[in-house]
Amino acid sequence: MPFVQGLRCRECSRPYPAEALHVCEWCFGPLEVVYDYEAIAAVITPERIAAGPQTIWRYADLLPASPLGAVDLGAGFTPLVRADRLAAELGLGELWIKNDTVNPTGSFKDRVVSVALTKARELGFKVASCASTGNLANSVAAHAARAGMHSVVFIPSDLEPAKVIMTSVFGGQVVAVDGSYDDVNRLCAELAGDYQDWAFVNINIRTYYAEGSKTLAYEVAEQLGWHAPDHVVVPVGSGSQLCKIAKGFDELEKVGLIPAGGGPGGAGRVRLSGAQADGCSPVATAFASGADHVRPVKPTTIAKSIAIGNPADGIYALDLVRDSGGAVASASDAEIVEAIGLLARTEGIFAETAAGATIAVLAKLAASGVIRPDEQVVAYVTGNGLKTLDAVAPGCGPTITIPPSMEAFVAAGLKGFDQ
Ligand SMILES: *Cc1c(COP(=O)(O)O)cnc(C)c1O
Ligand SMILES: [Zn+2]
Repeated sequence: MPFVQGLRCRECSRPYPAEALHVCEWCFGPLEVVYDYEAIAAVITPERIAAGPQTIWRYADLLPASPLGAVDLGAGFTPLVRADRLAAELGLGELWIKNDTVNPTGSFKDRVVSVALTKARELGFKVASCASTGNLANSVAAHAARAGMHSVVFIPSDLEPAKVIMTSVFGGQVVAVDGSYDDVNRLCAELAGDYQDWAFVNINIRTYYAEGSKTLAYEVAEQLGWHAPDHVVVPVGSGSQLCKIAKGFDELEKVGLIPAGGGPGGAGRVRLSGAQADGCSPVATAFASGADHVRPVKPTTIAKSIAIGNPADGIYALDLVRDSGGAVASASDAEIVEAIGLLARTEGIFAETAAGATIAVLAKLAASGVIRPDEQVVAYVTGNGLKTLDAVAPGCGPTITIPPSMEAFVAAGLKGFDQ
């Protein structure tokens, strides 16, 4: 990656080399990857990107690891779908769904993990690890298998069964911890101090890992014909994804791929809105109360993949949302289930609970006028519904059950359906 200049503290701007570092020794601020944007601008073009693979690695110039050694299951370049039927239901105009349910392990986490494990291998790590709310565990176990690395993933013991099975099938170690995600994360942060030859993707490799989410912005801009949308709606767990989507649009402007100067289609005009669940809404609560800090909470929600009570990037996400003129709101578990059904019935996309929160919040912000009908809107649908079947199972099943005969079918009489 010839364009990486090093790392820099997000708080005090002190520089660091591009090694397995994640916090500033001076102020304990998080570190960030620094690129030579002038050099990137000199080579990057839409044609160069289009000639690349149909994965996140088409944007390798803007990623912190070499595509030559990519740990790649094909993450990214997922469909951006025009959602006219959903837009009509919500009173919106031009609405698009970024359908990240179709990634290799069924969530956007494949983007961040592909980048993290590629970098981990470059740095010489042999063991891949993580603290996970579920989807990250799936993705780390799968990518480690692909790379021939060992994996040891840590999850809260009350996760959805599908996420546990889908992690263990890849043959790594799965450590279930009796506690919340925040307990798991604290444990892993301690372990990372002792197990220094393990790549904890969202702890000691976090600086690189988080960069993978920028591709959510790059792809949307490319798929819209190289401009940024007016408004994006993003689920907020740790807040990393939202921050990196903003960074992604900024970078595209810096390297000349989308319009600059504050006009339409440029990065400065993108309004960012965040979605949480009522049962874990520390960022939405801070937004609503005008607070300048995010107070940790104890999560209780079916949207387990965003159930992070003490979000590492919460304050950064809050600032970005406020500066952009967006909002952070939350939805109840019932609203989440309803929104999963609405997206499925209107657009044929089956999403998990975190995405249900995103669609429910999209609906609320449309109703309250924060998201306007004259805006081009993109909602990020980040995970697959097959992993959270339990959430929707109570309202789903056969319409009728009949013996195998014509008479029985006709006699049963399907209701609400004109033949
Ligand atoms: C992890 C996750 C999120 C939240 O991403 P953050 O970067 O932690 O904010 C959203 N949706 C799904 C499906 C996830 O797995
Ligand atoms: Zn610092």
